[in-house]
Amino acid sequence: MQTKVSKGLVLYNRNFREDDKLVKIFTESSGKRMFFVKHASKSKLASVIQPLTVAEFIMKISDSGLSYIEDYREVSVFKAINEDIFKLSYATYIVSLADAAVNDNQYDPHLFDFLVKTLELMEQGLDYEILTNIFEVQILERFGVQLNFHECAFCHRVGLPFDFSFKYSGLLCPDHYHQDEKRSFLNPNVPYLLDRFQTIKFDDLQTISVNDDLKREIRLFLDAIYDDYVGIHLKSKKFIDDLGKWGQIMKS
Ligand SMILES: [Zn+2]
Repeated sequence: MQTKVSKGLVLYNRNFREDDKLVKIFTESSGKRMFFVKHASKSKLASVIQPLTVAEFIMKISDSGLSYIEDYREVSVFKAINEDIFKLSYATYIVSLADAAVNDNQYDPHLFDFLVKTLELMEQGLDYEILTNIFEVQILERFGVQLNFHECAFCHRVGLPFDFSFKYSGLLCPDHYHQDEKRSFLNPNVPYLLDRFQTIKFDDLQTISVNDDLKREIRLFLDAIYDDYVGIHLKSKKFIDDLGKWGQIMKS
């Protein structure tokens, strides 16, 4: 066991035996780890092991078994996210996506930063659906999926009204639409935006505005991409889909 001090984000906790808990924390220094908290309800750690809590943890890290939290400081919580069922469900989804994308114990400070930054922007009130789409597009690489939304797969030209072909796992320009008669028939704004999302800097986010119809088209296309190339089915994603259906019923 070695003692380490690191920023961490609580992914989830679950009950273990009588009053103990297992807590999964994504740490900046040591990747995702499972921590054992004894007598959790009476512990000084009770408040800091709630999902979506960020803190600096003083930890005893084990590479083979469970790790332990010795102490913590500089706790912050996402208050606005926790108070809004929509924001909370999207935040929960990207957290579970990050959990699914990399193995436990794997050092990945870049993904850690990206996840925390995305949650901070949701907390600040930026569009949580678009932030989720950006997260989904950029994390594809962690699932071993590399898609080019920038140029035609055949002639490599850029800046055209592209469509996507699952057959060729890439874009088709108007001159090459005919290569795949089962192409996606996308609104060309969908691949255009996904191309921007792949490389976007968070500072540029303020300038992106997407209307509801286009958002729905992006959602459907990303669902198809995830079905085809990633193939995971997260409960938190199903919850978002159901929430969307209820939202529609309440609007109409
Ligand atoms: Zn082409």
